[in-house]
Amino acid sequence: MHNITMKFGGTSVGTSEAIDNAVSIVQQSLNAGHRVAVVVSAMSGVTDMLLKSVRAAVAGDKWGYLTLSDEIRQKHLDVVHDLIAPGERREALLTALGQLLQQHADLCEAINILGEATPRISDAVVSFGERLSARLVAAVLQERGVNAQAYDATQFIITGSNFQSAEPITDITEKRIQEQLKPLLAQGVTPVLTGFIGATIDGVVTTLGRGGSDFSAAIFAAYLDSAELIIWTDVDGVMTTDPRLDKRARVLPYVSYTEVGELAFYGAKVLHPKTVQPIINKNIPLRVCNTFNPSHPGTLIGAESRPNDHIIKAVTAIRSVSMLTVSGKGMLGVPGLAGRTFLATARAGASILMISQSSSEQSFCYTVTDDKALAVKAAVEDELVAEINRQDVDSVEVSRDIAIVTVVGAGMRHRPGVAGRVFTTLGDSGVNVLAIAQGSSECSISFVVAEPDLEQAVRCLHDLALKNSVPQPA
Ligand code: ADP
Ligand code: ASP
Ligand code: MG
Repeated sequence: MHNITMKFGGTSVGTSEAIDNAVSIVQQSLNAGHRVAVVVSAMSGVTDMLLKSVRAAVAGDKWGYLTLSDEIRQKHLDVVHDLIAPGERREALLTALGQLLQQHADLCEAINILGEATPRISDAVVSFGERLSARLVAAVLQERGVNAQAYDATQFIITGSNFQSAEPITDITEKRIQEQLKPLLAQGVTPVLTGFIGATIDGVVTTLGRGGSDFSAAIFAAYLDSAELIIWTDVDGVMTTDPRLDKRARVLPYVSYTEVGELAFYGAKVLHPKTVQPIINKNIPLRVCNTFNPSHPGTLIGAESRPNDHIIKAVTAIRSVSMLTVSGKGMLGVPGLAGRTFLATARAGASILMISQSSSEQSFCYTVTDDKALAVKAAVEDELVAEINRQDVDSVEVSRDIAIVTVVGAGMRHRPGVAGRVFTTLGDSGVNVLAIAQGSSECSISFVVAEPDLEQAVRCLHDLALKNSVPQPA
């Protein structure tokens, strides 16, 4: 008997049919004798609708947020009517869902009156997506005879107060999960936990960032000492590239924690970038599987580095990025300029996706997300004002409409030919490379290209990955 943590993403709980599949998957695992902790996302589209309701409320559009609230209600009611027979359970569930939706409308009303929404209140509003879906899925499990119970992760995942991207406080979270959740599993309860959300030590709701339910599930898996974490999603596993960018994408049977970390960081939406953090030290195997094709083995993710003969395993891309270039003749040999620039960038609330410096030391460039670019430029110009006045630094330039394309594969380590080959491939396809950087783990290389070149860049590199045509060492 094992204890297993399973997470179902938005599409996997997005319709009655999907929830029906998800529940069967849980039941099968229980029938095989395992104890299962279930983590759920909001029904697909609901998080976006909730964020839209915040914007409507800020704009004073009462009709807008009440309409959204109704649409969200209807989405859940459709499932209740399809999967839960009339009776006490259905009534209790309808009451619970109704209360949550009322709280949502009340919060929108408060935002409407104030005319503004802080990140804190926005987190409170979006938390309803997971709180609704957890109750719904738990009720469907109960309907099938499973001893399931819904829990808000706010009582277990304790975070700092960096709303919209909160960091869990590991020791308190570990203690809460070990002391309050683990015994429930041992008693035979199947907990259905909200993904994505946590709370500060004072009980204020936070979220872990978009797509954060994967991260939540990994936290639960780690502190419940699960034998396995299974992320159930809407594709057969981690693929050689985003199937929406290239239909030829194939499922990778195995990738390492490090490889998947790079893939996720550089844009593979299939997993949240922080997913492997909690499980890596405990060496908990992670499997990515398809709720709609459960007999497919999916992708296994573990500690071992298993380079396959495809030196490039996968290609990913991030859109909507800006590149900042700091340049000047007087920068040569001046210590500390880069450090100060990056600190100023952090103060502007941006994190850096990749950095590249030319060997002449007369310029370096780095990338941040578009929405932060202008604030970062202002912060860096402010920091370097003395250098700019002395003309040691000529300019801090922002190029927008940039994308980062990354190739990933542990087999690239110690293979000097790979970067060159990749570079040539891009050149042959007419893609102009604006900057290049190798990840510190040496299992990824990232390129900055103009956004209109993104698809072509991904396709030609994906060709290379599929063809296995990178030269092997003698
Ligand atoms: P969930 O709601 O289950 O969390 P997401 O939409 O967040 O699902 O992630 C799954 C999606 O990620 C897939 O439908 C696919 O379009 C996209 N994706 C992007 N890159 C990859 C990749 N390398 N492998 C698999 N899926 C990918
Ligand atoms: N529901 C959240 C989102 O859409 C979290 C998740 O699905 O992982 O971002
Ligand atoms: Mg996701």
